[in-house]
Amino acid sequence: MPQNVLVIENSDKNLDVVSKLVRKAGLIPVGAHSLTEASARFALMMPESFLCAIVAHNLPDAPNGEAIDFAIDAFIPAIVTTDTLEAKTRDRVLEKDVVDYIPKENAQNYDYLSRLLFRLEKNKSTGVVVVSTHRSSRRKMLSLLYRHNFVVYDCPTASEAMSILAEHAHIRLVITDNALPDMTGTQFISGLRKAFSKEQLAIIGLASDQRPLMSAHFIKSGANDFLHLSYCHEEFLCRVMQNIEYIESVEAIRRAANTDYLTGLPNRRHFFYTVTVQYKKLPEQHALALIDLDHFKRINDTYGHDAGDLVLKAVANLLQVHFNDTLVARFGGEEFCVYLPKIDIHNAQERLNRFRLALQKTPIQIGEESVKVTCSIGLCNTPTQNIETLLSSADKLLYKAKNAGRNQVHVTSETQEV
Ligand code: GH3
Ligand code: MG
Ligand code: MG
Repeated sequence: MPQNVLVIENSDKNLDVVSKLVRKAGLIPVGAHSLTEASARFALMMPESFLCAIVAHNLPDAPNGEAIDFAIDAFIPAIVTTDTLEAKTRDRVLEKDVVDYIPKENAQNYDYLSRLLFRLEKNKSTGVVVVSTHRSSRRKMLSLLYRHNFVVYDCPTASEAMSILAEHAHIRLVITDNALPDMTGTQFISGLRKAFSKEQLAIIGLASDQRPLMSAHFIKSGANDFLHLSYCHEEFLCRVMQNIEYIESVEAIRRAANTDYLTGLPNRRHFFYTVTVQYKKLPEQHALALIDLDHFKRINDTYGHDAGDLVLKAVANLLQVHFNDTLVARFGGEEFCVYLPKIDIHNAQERLNRFRLALQKTPIQIGEESVKVTCSIGLCNTPTQNIETLLSSADKLLYKAKNAGRNQVHVTSETQEV
């Protein structure tokens, strides 16, 4: 994966600021004060190791954007920094096939650069669908989206866009014109909203300059945003970035709310949500296991709380290995839960017992020391639609397993205890 970013800035201060932003994005700056120095440094490295170059428009040995041509000729996507916002400079820069340009006038522009650096890698796995009858309009948008590394889908009709959306889960944005051959853009948007919420998929409507009410019409039909067809390069890319960042922020919040911070497993809330939403009707045959570590308090007391955390993470990893085909959650403390749909109790019991034995055998490394833990398991298969009923039965069985001496699986009474 390309990790390096070539930074060509003649002033030490700018080189320093930009290099810091590059590092902040988890990338490695390769700095140079001039085009000559950049060529020399670049010659020693693999071109493929560069994600992009951040190039000053004016350099003492390259006063007219020659450094941009150098990056483009070397097939490195170029982001250009400019001292001025002069229209002539802007036009000259945008004529070249650059990713974007950043005027070095204020801190917010550097923030944009920082977001852009982060996005260039991420966009490689982010899909954008462009829908318009007009090939020239699509081509203009596609060319701008390619510059930012997006995976782009070119659709002349709404129905083609819908099948692309059904096929590719990585699509985060649809940009659509209103006059489509098979339906209007607003009909298309309101149809999409039945399958994708505003937080799952961003939609930007392209509003014709002759119809001023079109922008509001798009928003009322479910679009997140709109662009007038006379958009400029900068506005297009800023809006695309902003809308995709919105979807990703909601995704990140949702992930955090559903995930246990320590182990990365789904939490109790998400467990309930998934079981009820994913299985609208619970299968007739199923099983639920509650797993609780034995004498876990002793681990904390002996090795400290951080060591206890390491043990919990190791147990979560082992659970994921053993139950990667189904739903595993951390219910809190040292208690975990596994839901097994469409399984008979004997097979469920065998799977849980295999996990129990694996845990008992697996040493967990804590610094210099290695410890072993065991667990007790309550496993039930009550044929019910109520997940609470299942949990409460499993809890009673877990209590029995603890009382019977720990490190064992207790199952619903019709089968033998192990
Ligand atoms: P038993 O075999 O009866 O289950 O005994 P136990 O010691 O495992 O159970 P007990 O409920 O007495 O203690 C659970 C301990 O788990 C107490 C609590 O401090 C610890 N614990 C809960 N959550 C965490 C955590 O996130 N990290 C760490 N390190 N410890 C935790
Ligand atoms: Mg315990
Ligand atoms: Mg417990």
